[in-house]
Amino acid sequence: MGLITTDTTGNQLVEVEEGTVIMAPNIIITSMDKLINWSRRSSLWPMTFGLACCAIEMMATYASHNDLDRMGIIPRGSPRQSDFMFVAGTVTKKMAQIVRRVYDQMPEPRYVISVGSCASSGGIFNTYSTVQGCDSILPVDVYIPGCPPRPEAFIDGIIKLQEKIKHEHFRWSRWR
Ligand code: SF4
Repeated sequence: MGLITTDTTGNQLVEVEEGTVIMAPNIIITSMDKLINWSRRSSLWPMTFGLACCAIEMMATYASHNDLDRMGIIPRGSPRQSDFMFVAGTVTKKMAQIVRRVYDQMPEPRYVISVGSCASSGGIFNTYSTVQGCDSILPVDVYIPGCPPRPEAFIDGIIKLQEKIKHEHFRWSRWR
């Protein structure tokens, strides 16, 4: 493939395969990594799942004021249709296995955002009944600080996850 000529009106022409010549502005050259990562990060569907007060902020983030649809974020009611999960709220030891089961039902590639100090570290609940950080039961990709984090912090966490996906390598990623 290469630039071969210009037509009578000055348009640059490229031969993409033997005998097929098209105008240069119609050509995009990229890699599979970039194409797949772009499509993945542009339509991240979160699992609708909340555990405690941080989940109220998560609902506010999904509301019309923040318009997450413009970022391709459309909450799903089934883990089998979800790309990532907000762990929003206090994870009790009783709920930990349920959280893990929901995660296990999500298809690869799947991501986790830990929301708030409770999910990330147990927060103020340093007790026998509370998991001291959901990263002990799940592989967390992004942590959002706060008690509770505001919707802007949720959006910032989503953007951080998109940045992370942008730099993944299709062939060597963890689900391979
Ligand atoms: S971090 Fe704060 S707002 Fe979030 S679940 Fe814990 S106590 Fe509630």
